[in-house]
Amino acid sequence: MRILPLLLLLVSSPLWPWGDKGHRAVSTLALRSLPPETGVWFAGHEADVCDHASDPDHWRQDRKEGPRHFMDLEPYGGPDQMPRTLEEAQAKLGGDFYRRGVVPWIIQDRWRDLVDAFRAGDPARVAFATAILGHYVADAHVPLHTTDNHDGQRTNQRGVHSRWETGLVERHISVEALTVLPAQPDKAFFYRPWDWLKASHALIPQLLEDDRDADRTSPMDSRGKTRTAAYWMLFRAKQGPVVKQQLQLAGQHLGDAILNAWIVAGRPAPPAHQGN
Ligand SMILES: [Zn+2]
Repeated sequence: MRILPLLLLLVSSPLWPWGDKGHRAVSTLALRSLPPETGVWFAGHEADVCDHASDPDHWRQDRKEGPRHFMDLEPYGGPDQMPRTLEEAQAKLGGDFYRRGVVPWIIQDRWRDLVDAFRAGDPARVAFATAILGHYVADAHVPLHTTDNHDGQRTNQRGVHSRWETGLVERHISVEALTVLPAQPDKAFFYRPWDWLKASHALIPQLLEDDRDADRTSPMDSRGKTRTAAYWMLFRAKQGPVVKQQLQLAGQHLGDAILNAWIVAGRPAPPAHQGN
């Protein structure tokens, strides 16, 4: 009887999360970035946008879900050779392409869902579509979601994925201290995910080097499993600001996504409250 809850926890635990805290932070920042006429759509639904921001990490029982959260850039020849369409991806990698990740196209699909939700005039649907879109936008800002060395397995740094994405968020980030710029209209918004991936990918060499340095200076504890407090002090000093920057950028870009979806939908006002 005692084993069951633990098993359930393991099954439902996401493989590579920003962690609930990180995804919530991105949602919070995005809502903060909106002009009042767009933000009014979320009145009374703010908690829904945060509460559902981690949902896609719990959908991984569906084998198609995993690759929606990342894209390996190396198989395409690096960030300058990224395919812009699924057809192009398939032409380059054949049947292997889906397994290598499809996050930019998923962001486009979920963004269209948000445009549709605004057009349908349904604030609850707008909030849910925003939460789901925001999840994939946030994942695209994690450097290790853009590489086939996603967990440091090729550089003997296994576990670096969660050390960066969850470990540093838990230790370094206070959501109240994060800031975000006002959301911006952008006619080319639909193609921005490729820019985000490219910028994320550029952060990888330093991230891996800082993890190695922190390990060298402060080896693992005697059981050889958990990192020491000294490791975390060093890794946090180097990469904490990068984690903060990526969370803030993700929040800003989700804000841009919401604003531009609302503009494309024709700048609708939310339906008036029924009754009094
Ligand atoms: Zn994810």
